[in-house]
Amino acid sequence: MLDTSEPLETLNWVPRPRLLALRRLGIETVEDLLTHYPRRHEDRHQFPRFPREESDVPMCLCGEVTKTSIRRFGGWKKIFEATLQEPNADALSQPLVCRWFNLHYVQKMIATGQQLVVFGKPRLRGKRICMDHPEFEVIENDEEISIHLRRITPIYPATEGLSQRALRSMIYRLLQSVDCESVETLLPGELRTGERSEAIRAIHFPDDWDALTAARQHLVLTEFFAMQMLIGSRRVQSHARAGGAHCGQGDLLNEFVRRLPFELTAAQQKVIEEIRRDLAAPHPMNRLLQGDVGSGKTVVAIAAILLAVEAGYDAAFMAPTQILAEQHYDVLRRWLDPLGVRLSIRTAARRDESAPLPLFAETECLGRARVSRASRRDACAIQSEVDAAARHVFVGTHALLYEGVSFSNLGLVVIDEQHKFGVAQRARLTSRAPAPDVLVMTATPIPRTLTMTVYGDLDVSTIDEMPRNRGKIITALREASKLAEVLTFLRTQLEAGRQLYVVYPLIEESDKLTAKAAAVEYERWRERLQPFSCELLHGQLPGLEKQEIMERFRCGQTQALISTTVIEVGVDVPNATVMLIENAERFGLAQLHQLRGRIGRGRHKSYCILLSSEPSADAGAKLDVLEKTTNGFAVAEADLQLRGSGDLLGTAQSGLPGLKIGDLRRDADLMRRARAAAMSILGDDPRLESAANQRFRRLIVEQENRTFANVS
Ligand code: ADP
Ligand code: MG
Repeated sequence: MLDTSEPLETLNWVPRPRLLALRRLGIETVEDLLTHYPRRHEDRHQFPRFPREESDVPMCLCGEVTKTSIRRFGGWKKIFEATLQEPNADALSQPLVCRWFNLHYVQKMIATGQQLVVFGKPRLRGKRICMDHPEFEVIENDEEISIHLRRITPIYPATEGLSQRALRSMIYRLLQSVDCESVETLLPGELRTGERSEAIRAIHFPDDWDALTAARQHLVLTEFFAMQMLIGSRRVQSHARAGGAHCGQGDLLNEFVRRLPFELTAAQQKVIEEIRRDLAAPHPMNRLLQGDVGSGKTVVAIAAILLAVEAGYDAAFMAPTQILAEQHYDVLRRWLDPLGVRLSIRTAARRDESAPLPLFAETECLGRARVSRASRRDACAIQSEVDAAARHVFVGTHALLYEGVSFSNLGLVVIDEQHKFGVAQRARLTSRAPAPDVLVMTATPIPRTLTMTVYGDLDVSTIDEMPRNRGKIITALREASKLAEVLTFLRTQLEAGRQLYVVYPLIEESDKLTAKAAAVEYERWRERLQPFSCELLHGQLPGLEKQEIMERFRCGQTQALISTTVIEVGVDVPNATVMLIENAERFGLAQLHQLRGRIGRGRHKSYCILLSSEPSADAGAKLDVLEKTTNGFAVAEADLQLRGSGDLLGTAQSGLPGLKIGDLRRDADLMRRARAAAMSILGDDPRLESAANQRFRRLIVEQENRTFANVS
C-alpha cells in the first residue's frame, strides 16, 4: 500500500506528461493530489429535463449532440454551436444550443453523436434556449463510466493540459491504492468526527450530499486547527522571548492627558490601560491597536511612548510614508516638547540635525534637549523630568529599520498602519534581544471573524468609539457626466471657507508616467476651480516639497489639494471637509473608506463625492455600503461579503499559509472552534511536550514550511 508522502513518480501508472502537468499546479506527492480538492460537485445521478425558460441559477444538464456548426461574424470571429437533445425527448422537448465564441479548441473536442454534460445558465436567445460558454465534459461510454456518471461527481479547478476526466480518474485510482493508516487524523478529540482518510475519500466521491458536508467540515476543521496551532505556537514563542518592563509611574502621561483640549474617550482609556499592563510585564508586548480612521490612535500612541520614556527608555514611532512621518513629528512635538521629552525625525529625505547618528546609539548629555526654557519650567513640576529628558523619541519612516541601527536602549516601537508593514519586517524588530515592546496600529479594521486569524499571534486592542463632536459625512455617487453640477457644489463649499481634496487613482506611485498624468490632471483642476488656489501632491515629489505642500494646505493657504492616494492614511486637516474621488469604481471598498476618513475630522458637515464614469452594479453595491455607514468595521464586514477573503491570507503580509478548502467568510464558526481547541492544547502544554501532543508538532512544522514557500 501507498504512503501519502511519496512522490507521484512512484506510481507507475501515471504517464509522464501528466506528472508534468500536475507539477505545474504544485502537485508533487500523493498527499498533494489527494488534497487537490474539488471546486464543486455535480449530481449526475439524474439530470433535470431541459429548461424552456432562462434561469439565473446554473444548471447541470446531459444530452446528445445532434448537430454542430460554425458561424462567422465580424470578419474573422467565429461562434461554434453544438445542439443538444435531451434523452427520451418528446414533442415538448426543446433542444439546448451551447455556444462558444472564438474558442478554437472546443470545436475540436465536440462531435455529433457524443454525450455531453454541460453546466451553465440557460438563456433565451430569440426562440432558442442557449448556454454560452458552458463548462462541459464529453462522456465516454467505457469501463470507467461509473467514475464519471451516475454519481455525485467532483469538478476540479481547471488545469491546463489535464482534463477533468483524466484528473478524476487519477484521483479515483489513487484513493483505491492509498494506505488508510498513513492518512493520520490530526484533530483533537473535541473536534473529531470520523477519520481523515474517510473524509478525503468522501470529499472527492461522496455517497450523498450529507457525506460531502461532513467530509468538508472535517477537512476544514483540520486545516483551521493546523493554522491555529501555528498561530498559537508563534504566540508562545513571542511570549517566551527576553524582554523587559518598560513602564513608568504615569506622571508624564497624566500631565499629557491634563493638557489635552478634550477628554479621552472611554475606548481610548481602556486601550491605554491594556497597553500599560503589557508595558509593565517582563515579556515583550506584541499588540495590535485597531481603530477606525479618526478614532484617535495617535493620542494612545503618545501615551504609550510617555510611559516608556518615563521608565528610562527610548521609543521609536514609525510611519509608512514621509508625509505621515512629518505629520506625526509635528503632532508629537506639540505634545512632547512642553513635557521636556526630546524628539527627532529621521526619514530618507530628512535628518533632524540634533539627532545623534547613528540612531539609537547611547544618548548624549542631557543638556542638549531641544526644549525651550518656558516649556522646561513648565515641566518642572513633573518629578521624572530628568529621566524623560535623557530619553529620546524618534519619528521616522519604516526605512529606519534598515539602517545600521543599534537598539541598545529601545523600549518601545510604535508602528503606524500595519497593512503597509509585513510580518517579516515586524519579525526583524521583535527578534532582537532584548526585544522592545511593539505596538502596531492599523486604521484598516478587519472583520472580527478574521482578526483571530490574520492577527492571531498579536494581542488586539480595539478603539470602537469615535470622539464626540465629529461632523457628519455625507456620501454620494455621481456620474462623471454630471461634473458641472458637482463643480458648482464644490465652489459653494470653497466659498464657505472649507477645503477640498480631489483624489484620483493612479495605482503605481513609482511609475514615471504617474507624475506626467498627475500634472495634466492638475492643470485641468486648476482651471475648473479658479480662482481658488490648488496644489498637486503625488508620490514622485521630493519629500521636502511634499511636506511644504501639505503644510500650506494644513494652514489654509491652499484651498484644494489635487492628489493621488498618498493622502490615504493618517493625514489630518479638520477644515478639509469635501472630498471628490475620481474614477471611484477603481478603488476597493476599504480603500474608499480610508480615503473618506480624511474628512469629517472637524465640526463641519463633510461631503464625500464618488465620481464614476462607468456606474455599475458593483459600484452601486459599494456606494450603498458607504452611504449607510461610516463605521469601519461594518465597511470591512461588507467588503468581505462583496469580495471574499481570498487575498487576506496566503500573502507574504499575513505570514500564514493559504487555505486549500476553508473559507474565512463561510466557515467563521469552524475557525472559532478550531482556535478554542488549539488554545486549550497550547495553554496546557505550551511546548507540546506531552506524548499525546507529539503528533501536533509535525503539524506546526509543516505549516511553517508552507508559509515560507508562500513568501518566497
Ligand atoms: P487616527 O486614529 O486616524 O490616527 P488621530 O489620532 O489622528 O486618529 O485623531 C484624529 C483627530 O481627533 C486628531 O485631531 C486628534 O487630536 C483628535 N482626537 C483624538 N482623540 C480625541 C478625543 N478623545 N476627543 C476629541 N478629539 C480627539
Ligand atoms: Mg493615524
